Amino acid sequence: MDKVIVAASRNKHKIEEIEAITKKFGMSIISRDEAGVPPVEIVEDGETFEENSFKKADEIMKLCGKITLADDSGLMVDYLCGAPGVYSARFAGEDGNDEKNNDKLLKLLDGVPAKERTAKFVSVITMVYPDGTVLSARGECPGRIITVPTGDGGFGYDPLFVPEGYDKTFAQLTPEEKNAISHRAAALVELEKLLEARA
Ligand code: IMP
Repeated sequence: MDKVIVAASRNKHKIEEIEAITKKFGMSIISRDEAGVPPVEIVEDGETFEENSFKKADEIMKLCGKITLADDSGLMVDYLCGAPGVYSARFAGEDGNDEKNNDKLLKLLDGVPAKERTAKFVSVITMVYPDGTVLSARGECPGRIITVPTGDGGFGYDPLFVPEGYDKTFAQLTPEEKNAISHRAAALVELEKLLEARA
């Protein structure tokens, strides 16, 4: 029988991406709601993606007693010393949204020359087992921040981020193109290696 993994995220798209990898290891993913986890809010107060990703997976694992997987991600801009980082979702404040976050980023980079606008997306995927085992996989996607939002696809900072080696933003790439090079895809490759080592 399949090993059931509980996803701490409610993002269906993320869950599908993750399941494509974990099913190779006889693992099927269910949502935290399906696992009967009460609708508690987990405060993401860590200073690193690793801390937040572990906290989400660990708290949900303790609530359902099953292997749990969480992902934490964000954008790190070199000129801003790694900001917005773990604050990516709420960069423009708790009431912010993608558009406000992008506006704030553009303002902070106003006048900064192209060669100093380097950045990377980071994703950390953590799996916590009821026996205390922790698998943590980090993936990164380097690129740069352009000056005008471009493209309609994706979400978050995608219209401002051009991955290295490309001349289109993440928002202009197809989901397949983005998923082939994204930080989450890179983290999943790492997770696959960790799972292989345990198999
Ligand atoms: P989460 O913690 O993984 O849900 O994501 C945190 C925030 O990072 C999101 O709200 C986005 O602002 C940003 N982010 C993470 N991954 C991406 C991506 O693939 N594209 C654009 N923005 C992203």
